[in-house]
Amino acid sequence: MSAVTGLPPYDESNIFARILRGEIPSRRVHEDEFAVAFHDINPQAPVHVLVIPRGAYVSLADFAASASDAEIAGFWRAVGRVAKELGLEAHGYRALTNMGQEGGQEVPHFHVHLFGGRMLGRMVPGQAA
Ligand code: AMP
Repeated sequence: MSAVTGLPPYDESNIFARILRGEIPSRRVHEDEFAVAFHDINPQAPVHVLVIPRGAYVSLADFAASASDAEIAGFWRAVGRVAKELGLEAHGYRALTNMGQEGGQEVPHFHVHLFGGRMLGRMVPGQAA
């Protein structure tokens, strides 16, 4: 288990690691030293892009604790830049990261979803426990 998050250690075979290695295709909208952004394969909004760090981090907590200052700054600058370049600032958008089982994380490589292009509704759907 990761000492930081309680999640399993980083799995080099996860789908985003494979995208980073170029083993499977992605529709990239941005890439730089610290981050890669590409369209989600199953979009939940007219614009649904994923931004991922190049480094091997399982989750937000892992990234925040283990990434270098340069990686953290570079990654979040890329998130903002992608949102701007996709034109999302004009009408607004949502940035979201899922973590772990209850957070609904399916791919164990830290990523930020950017959603836009329609009214996005409630922040967290469904009823409280
Ligand atoms: P999460 O539930 O936060 O881990 O989100 C994982 C996201 O990755 C989902 O929205 C999937 O649709 C998306 N996804 C899975 N495989 C691919 C892929 N090969 N290319 C692009 N997006 C993918």
